[in-house]
Amino acid sequence: MSVSVAIVGRPNVGKSTLFNRLVGKKLALVDDSPGVTRDRREGTGRIGDLTFNLIDTAGYEDADDGSLEARMRQQTEEAIRVADVILFMIDARAGVTPMDEHFGRLLRKADKKVTLVANKYEGQLADEGLYEAFKLGFGEPIALSAEHGMGLADLYNIVATTI
Ligand code: GDP
Ligand code: MG
Repeated sequence: MSVSVAIVGRPNVGKSTLFNRLVGKKLALVDDSPGVTRDRREGTGRIGDLTFNLIDTAGYEDADDGSLEARMRQQTEEAIRVADVILFMIDARAGVTPMDEHFGRLLRKADKKVTLVANKYEGQLADEGLYEAFKLGFGEPIALSAEHGMGLADLYNIVATTI
């Protein structure tokens, strides 16, 4: 049985970018406007010799029923239910926002392994966000750049210890 890894977090942190990088196909829609991914997407993720089932979450703004908050909670709870490992992604350049803290509260209830991922870590300006991420209470964040493929070795270790 394949391990399932879900990428969870507020819109625009880079979830679909990581999904596309690990799945290797443009299955998830990436756009500059937040929340353009319409559905939960699943594909076979690969890092080195590891293969796993990868889930991308989003689609909050497109809902014609229910509040944004309710949609986010629904998707997050579904991801918690089906995934073995949850990658809780924040934007290291933006730091920890109130919406990140909201996701943190939802994920804290999960009886699943949650790994904090601080994305957009390349270049300057991201160190402060990385240290701030500790306050979410999920331990040491993995520093990542989904766009540039940095930090994948640390991600490998997280998935490898679960398989
Ligand atoms: P999602 O809403 O969480 O799925 O975020 P997307 O994957 O759609 O990305 C939102 C925006 O962030 C896009 O403009 C991406 O190009 C950009 N982005 C994603 N990953 C990185 C990264 O590692 N570094 C930087 N600088 N930008 C990124
Ligand atoms: Mg997306």
